Amino acid sequence: MINRRKFVTGAALSAAGMVMPAGLLKVSSKDKHDEPLTSDAVASYDVMKEVMKYRKIDAHIHVNLFDGPPEGNIAFADRLGINKMIISRPITSGEGTPVNFRSYNDLVMQAMKKYPDRFVGQLTLNVLYQKESLEEIKRCVDNGMVGLKVYTQVKISDPLFYPIIEKMIDLKMIVHCHSNCQLGVAGYRMKYDTKIKPNTSIPEDFVAIATRYPEGMFQYAHIGGGGDWEYACKSFKGHPNIYVDTSGSNNPENMIDFALKELGEDRLFFGSDNCYYQSVGKILASNVTEAQKKKIFYGNYNNVLRKSGRNFD
Ligand SMILES: [Zn+2]
Repeated sequence: MINRRKFVTGAALSAAGMVMPAGLLKVSSKDKHDEPLTSDAVASYDVMKEVMKYRKIDAHIHVNLFDGPPEGNIAFADRLGINKMIISRPITSGEGTPVNFRSYNDLVMQAMKKYPDRFVGQLTLNVLYQKESLEEIKRCVDNGMVGLKVYTQVKISDPLFYPIIEKMIDLKMIVHCHSNCQLGVAGYRMKYDTKIKPNTSIPEDFVAIATRYPEGMFQYAHIGGGGDWEYACKSFKGHPNIYVDTSGSNNPENMIDFALKELGEDRLFFGSDNCYYQSVGKILASNVTEAQKKKIFYGNYNNVLRKSGRNFD
């Protein structure tokens, strides 16, 4: 019989990709990553000690969306040593009128006020409403927000975004956009998902806008979100102002290593998109160095915040 504590530990381990037959496990430190683990090494590997060893900024979290009120996010974050969360509430359904997006941003501000040491917000808007969107940037930044999160109403490369992006460049803040990439194995499957909106931004849209605005900073959301992450990473190779966050529920073994090889160690952000366990686990399970893990978990995002003087330390 399995008790609850054992079950919860087991579930966390398997979500973090840590439960495999001992003979298949590889040590993830770079100096000996090809040696099969002995059962002693498996027994002595304390996954939670590893988890808690790294301070973390989660670059992709939603409040009042998947985990209910902010207390849901805090509970997960506490369990996994996530110190800071970049939160947003994008327009995932409905028309996205100014009344809608202001109310979503109000929810983010309420969460920030309640947990000022844990949450920093990204505002959302809908560029179909230009004047109201520009006004909303000012209102939200005046209230402590540090970036923009947009969804699928209009592609990120659309001229309607130009004045918005120019404003974000003035503020030295990042533009974080939902994304998809319907190629390859996962893309093939997703082609038949009619819920994907026609204006969803794809890698080519990010490349177009990042080329037009080399001084802008763009965050390609969730390479673990089910799209063709290899294609996306390859597309961004020559575009140093495109960052990717590693969030999402998909955690193929080689994702972090591949992304780092293509993009270098400064352009990956740890993020969960509320898929907390696997998002921490995929970084721990990668073969990147200790120093690179620290950059992914914390340093890289903190450096982006530093540009607007909003870094944590
Ligand atoms: Zn998201």
